[in-house]
Amino acid sequence: MPSTSHHPIHLCQPDKGKSCGACCGLYNWKNHSRADIKEILELQTALFAPFQTSEHADFDRYRELREAGIKNEKLFETIYNCEFIGFIDPEHCRVGCMLHPMVTGGRDLRDHCFYGAEICSGHFCPGYSCFSTAQQRAVVDATSDWYLYGLTITDIDLVKEFFKHVENTIGDSIKEKRLGNPAALAVLADFFRLKENWRFKAAENRLGKYYFSAAEYHVARIEYEQRWGVPVSRFDKILVSLESEFASQDDLQTAEMLIQSLIDRFIAVYTAVS
Ligand code: SF4
Ligand code: SF4
Repeated sequence: MPSTSHHPIHLCQPDKGKSCGACCGLYNWKNHSRADIKEILELQTALFAPFQTSEHADFDRYRELREAGIKNEKLFETIYNCEFIGFIDPEHCRVGCMLHPMVTGGRDLRDHCFYGAEICSGHFCPGYSCFSTAQQRAVVDATSDWYLYGLTITDIDLVKEFFKHVENTIGDSIKEKRLGNPAALAVLADFFRLKENWRFKAAENRLGKYYFSAAEYHVARIEYEQRWGVPVSRFDKILVSLESEFASQDDLQTAEMLIQSLIDRFIAVYTAVS
């Protein structure tokens, strides 16, 4: 999580209602449902509280306690799951770095982490460089909690492909100032919520388009031609991002219709307001 940003929107901590900790390994657990990740965050937050305020905190002792308390397993072994990510506000709406000077009250303790303060403060994920400001604004304004926000702001394909399909249809780019339209935001929210409740989610353990095999992570594929003799779906990148697995061609067509209907709904409300 970087300390400061010269970007128009601070994606890590965009507002008081949500934030992201994805690059600190937040979702890198075999069980990474909302409830599972919340349990880990609650544990780390509670365990670290006394260490955070102590001048001579024993960080190894914290690590022991945390290790003993976690009932989950890492998903991708090569990705670091930082033990210092926790809730950083009293309401537990925002996740963040418990070693950051803005959280500790001034002391920068991030050198206690595997990455160290320099790497932590200098890291900006692809959401900063790959998304347009309108795309960033869409994710920030259409998600309302840390869990879904972090999953979405790091899913470049999902967001960019939705924009691409809309923009190709309307023949114009989506304008940031028109995303204040509550009806348009409501449709975007429905689309982003597919990350959490997609009915065609694969049984195998995935994280977005990635799956884990032989100590490495790979990008998943849907074998359209091989399985059903059909060309690659126009929504392929979205379907892969949503961790799709289809039992039949009917399921694939249903999924495409669901996505198309969200695109159509968005266009209807977006173009209704000038
Ligand atoms: S994944 Fe991106 S937005 Fe999320 S905490 Fe890391 S740098 Fe910030
Ligand atoms: S110390 Fe850990 S939680 Fe904090 S920014 Fe670095 S990786 Fe993230």
